[in-house]
Amino acid sequence: MWRWNDDSDIAGGDRVGEIRLGQQVLTLALRLDVDGEGDIGFDIAVPCPFDPECSSPAWTPAYSVTCLHRALTGDLDYRDDIVCTVHGGYDDIGQEADDHAASMDDDADGRADLEEQYAAAVRE
Ligand SMILES: [Zn+2]
Repeated sequence: MWRWNDDSDIAGGDRVGEIRLGQQVLTLALRLDVDGEGDIGFDIAVPCPFDPECSSPAWTPAYSVTCLHRALTGDLDYRDDIVCTVHGGYDDIGQEADDHAASMDDDADGRADLEEQYAAAVRE
């Protein structure tokens, strides 16, 4: 269910692990210094919230196992502490993020449908 993916460099050199739950795979990065004081923590890979075309990994902190479950349901996709490898975080995006949030409303139906698919996958 858990395996390390030592060939992956998507976390900028940090160790990458995968959790497989049914048909879904959660990608996690092991951060060895999350707060500048040497504390260890995990980030969860989520879709880039800033650009739907962006294929770079974006990361959000995993505070608990609950976060893992929420990541599977897509619940973390709009968190404001997501940082994309290319786009940075919401603080870096500023005005652009506001524009993007407005355009994302158009996709609300597709999003809802995606959550349905996730939910169905989890039930199987
Ligand atoms: Zn991005």
